[in-house]
Amino acid sequence: MSVLETTSTQDAIALEKKHGAHNYHPLPVVLNRGEGVHVWDVEGKKYYDFLSAYSAVNQGHCHPKIIGAMTNQAQTLTLTSRAFYNDMLGKFEKYATETFGFDKLLPMNTGAEAVETALKLCRKWSYEKKGIPENKAQIIVCENNFHGRTTTIISFSNDQVARKNFGPYTKGFIKIEYDNLTALETALSENPNVAGFLVEPIQGEAGVYVPSESYLKAAKALCEQYNVLFIADEVQTGIARTGRLLATCGNCGCENKHCSGTPEVKPDILILGKALSGGVYPVSGVLANDNIMGVIRPGNHGSTFGGNPIAAAVGIAALDVVKEEQLAQNAYELGELFRKELNAFIPTCNIVNAVRGKGLLNAILINDTEESTTAWDICIALKENGLLAKPTHGNIIRFAPPLVMTEEQLLDCVSIITTTLRAFEC
Ligand SMILES: *Cc1c(COP(=O)(O)O)cnc(C)c1O
Repeated sequence: MSVLETTSTQDAIALEKKHGAHNYHPLPVVLNRGEGVHVWDVEGKKYYDFLSAYSAVNQGHCHPKIIGAMTNQAQTLTLTSRAFYNDMLGKFEKYATETFGFDKLLPMNTGAEAVETALKLCRKWSYEKKGIPENKAQIIVCENNFHGRTTTIISFSNDQVARKNFGPYTKGFIKIEYDNLTALETALSENPNVAGFLVEPIQGEAGVYVPSESYLKAAKALCEQYNVLFIADEVQTGIARTGRLLATCGNCGCENKHCSGTPEVKPDILILGKALSGGVYPVSGVLANDNIMGVIRPGNHGSTFGGNPIAAAVGIAALDVVKEEQLAQNAYELGELFRKELNAFIPTCNIVNAVRGKGLLNAILINDTEESTTAWDICIALKENGLLAKPTHGNIIRFAPPLVMTEEQLLDCVSIITTTLRAFEC
């Protein structure tokens, strides 16, 4: 058998099991095609994708405009390294900085790399601009954060599965409770060497935990008071997912009629990834103004693939699609509808305790313990019924479809979800 011959679900899973490292525990479905909000398995069964590759595929699977930009560029020039200029990167940098309202972009590939970049940038700024003594900088992070999987990032995670036996850990981080301003103020006032505060506007992996309304704004004000950089990790919440171009919506100009127009919180450092690529190619980046980004000089940081011509072409197309198709507005409206429908359903059943989220980043809380397999079992049943989602924890299921969904499709999905949940009534 050729390794590229078509395989059954069972064979494909067996192949991965035998030859691949077991660093994931996927739902038992093997996909081989995607278009818009749908994916198909190797037996031809069609599903709604309610994960969107952890919000990387906001623009929908295989969006023709993004695929077109990628294939065009792939036939012209793919990689130069940053040893030479290429004619696409500057265009992407101009477009991204104008879109998000910053002076400069530093392009990378994955979300974790962009987070690492932001941490390095913050530390260097603190030594050269704030005057913190060398090697003393501290960065405040939140409990239950998810910022990626590198050695430094897992050093300040409190997920034991992600951490255990990967030490020794990187120093220089202070962990405080999320959505707790008193804890932030205490950490800031007790430590003179704080350089930055790294935060997710909504904690996605933790189970779509939405902080209280005023949290981000007040946290930013505290950071300003203590001359500490406010670093927003919008790798998951960014690019229209939460019903606005950014969850922090700093000067985003997204023309979403549901936005108030007033910038809510303008991060000092903004981290983007995932949907910056439309889900076709790894593209991430860090945005900041010159007073911060100016501390990075040749040789300080880099990546062979970061800012390559394909990534630049893809990034431009991915942002174009978000604007042209008004995905922020669609995510806002469908998110309201989704929570309204589920909030009507929840009192009629005893299997779901709550739905929460913003835009099309939502989660339901299953009425069972964190150690139970109920959420997993529900996801298996959802799969049988044509909808793919994944638990974030034992009792939380995230629902994050591509933002190109129509109202009719969303209502169809609500019906699949509620019918499936009914079958799990206690
Ligand atoms: C996914 C994610 C990351 C890491 O991105 P990778 O591309 O998987 O490295 C970082 N931060 C947040 C908030 C994420 O959701």
